[in-house]
Amino acid sequence: MSFVSSQFLEVKAQLDKVIKSTNRQVDRVKLVAISKFFPAENIAEVYQLGQRAFGESKATELVAKATTLPQDIEWHFIGHLQSNKVKSVVEYASYIHSIDTIKLLERVNRLAGEVGKKPKVLLEVNVSGEESKYGFTVAQVAEAVAQAKSLPHIECVGLMTMAPDGVDSEELKKIFSTLKSLADQAELSELSMGMSGDYPEAVECGATLVRIGSAIFGNRSY
Ligand SMILES: *Cc1c(COP(=O)(O)O)cnc(C)c1O
Repeated sequence: MSFVSSQFLEVKAQLDKVIKSTNRQVDRVKLVAISKFFPAENIAEVYQLGQRAFGESKATELVAKATTLPQDIEWHFIGHLQSNKVKSVVEYASYIHSIDTIKLLERVNRLAGEVGKKPKVLLEVNVSGEESKYGFTVAQVAEAVAQAKSLPHIECVGLMTMAPDGVDSEELKKIFSTLKSLADQAELSELSMGMSGDYPEAVECGATLVRIGSAIFGNRSY
């Protein structure tokens, strides 16, 4: 078995264990395999093992992969989305996790309408308040959600966040619990949180979409 295949099975097993140990339901936590910077062959290997949800952070890479790989892959867009790339992302992505401005929200809605799609979207929230991160502030979430829910060509399903690097387990849980309560207040069911290094805490705090890349595919060379 290849490196990627065995890593994938290991992550699946670990994730299952975490879900069960936190009394979550296995079918309420979806693994999104983050395949950015890895070739289509690696995705095909993981696909062979039954995985269908994959995530990409660049529009051109998403399009290249979506047009060559099997049609039943569910593509998730997780990167910062530039306005001139919205159309191609809307064509191929079932989920867009990284809506970070009202302007982008409106543009996604308009272009989705034009191409006859209705993507599921999540609003990115900068819970930790780091300067370097994109996303709505905690204070902006309620209004952004209200706006998102009023638009006809998108389906606003949830919130997404990225925790800072190098914080301890307790701090991670604070951040993830904040996102969970924001989503509860806004009556949104999906919570995209947790990556290779912090998914156990995210699952414990209610994640429904975990975005795991390097633990499956290995280290990325940018
Ligand atoms: C790259 C990326 C991931 C995956 O990170 P890993 O640490 O490799 O699991 C998850 N979410 C976002 C937004 C990313 O850009």
